[in-house]
Amino acid sequence: MVEKEKKIKIKCPTCKKQTEWHNNPHRPFCSERCRLVDLGRWADESYSIEGSYPPDFEEET
Ligand SMILES: [Zn+2]
Repeated sequence: MVEKEKKIKIKCPTCKKQTEWHNNPHRPFCSERCRLVDLGRWADESYSIEGSYPPDFEEET
């Protein structure tokens, strides 16, 4: 029994969900959304400074 295409599973760095490596244009992410989320984290440095608030967090004034 020869497996021509091994099903390689990877873990999405954003949502930690298991996803397939093959036929995945967004790898190592599971989806474009997760890829953009990760890019956004690096691009928006204030995110890491502000802490762990979700992006849609609204502060009451
Ligand atoms: Zn993901």
